[in-house]
Amino acid sequence: MTRILIAEDDLTSRSMLSFIADHWGYQPVLAEDGQEALKIMLGDDDPPRLLLLDWEMPKIDGLTLCKRLREIESEDPPYIILLTARSNTADIVAGLDAGANDYISKPFENEELRARLQVGSRILALQQELNIAKETLTLQASYDMLTGLLNHGAIIEALDLELESATQSQAPLYLGMCDVDHFKQINDTYGHMAGDHVLQEVSERISQSIAPYDQVGRYGGEEFLILLHNPIEQAATVFEQVRKAIADTPFSIDGESLQMTMSFGVSTFHPVEDNREGKALLAAADKALFAAKANGRNCVVME
Ligand SMILES: [Mg+2]
Repeated sequence: MTRILIAEDDLTSRSMLSFIADHWGYQPVLAEDGQEALKIMLGDDDPPRLLLLDWEMPKIDGLTLCKRLREIESEDPPYIILLTARSNTADIVAGLDAGANDYISKPFENEELRARLQVGSRILALQQELNIAKETLTLQASYDMLTGLLNHGAIIEALDLELESATQSQAPLYLGMCDVDHFKQINDTYGHMAGDHVLQEVSERISQSIAPYDQVGRYGGEEFLILLHNPIEQAATVFEQVRKAIADTPFSIDGESLQMTMSFGVSTFHPVEDNREGKALLAAADKALFAAKANGRNCVVME
């Protein structure tokens, strides 16, 4: 049920507005003056989005309240209707300039108020839909659609942030570049659907093998990037765990059981003696990965 804030100092008008709003299916929240209305808007975690404000009110008038509310930055601003006996053009302009969405002159017909509240509800619903769409887009912009992991851009961004916090906390950071061995053969032999399935399964196994505060992203193709915070002896163990999680349990492809392996190149950032940036660490991890491949694959090479 949509809640509506009714701020009106006149008791009779307030009761009447509350009664009809309730009758029309809204849930009225009442304020006796502008100050009380502002308190409700600022104090509530989820304040009403539909507002009916009387212009003439003690303490804070409707126009000032409108301006104050518009100063608050919000993804979901309220829809404000000003209510007043003033009906000349200058007043209407002042009301709209203060940030009101709409304006109703007293005395008004109930049916007009009802229609204008409906317009407000509609606008608020559209606004909410738009916000949800925006959130979805933001999510899509950071996540890889196939695996659900962070995508290339997002894991690089995470790397930069982790480097910053590693420098601040003087704690080491480990960057693992991981590549599925002979992945091209899967695509060539079983088709791209099977290849996609392998990548999803690999992603899941990696995620389950690292701590929730460690990060993993799809760097591209069959390459993944893992960021670890563990002390060095543990970091080696974690990468070894990930390697085994892939190599020790066969993958099921088209009913066939297939053994897959992964190679790992790890670079280490020691904040005290290291001033390398993300790019240099990536290059070092890439070099270590090359060594792992040259070593016969299915192994972890630490820089
Ligand atoms: Mg009044």
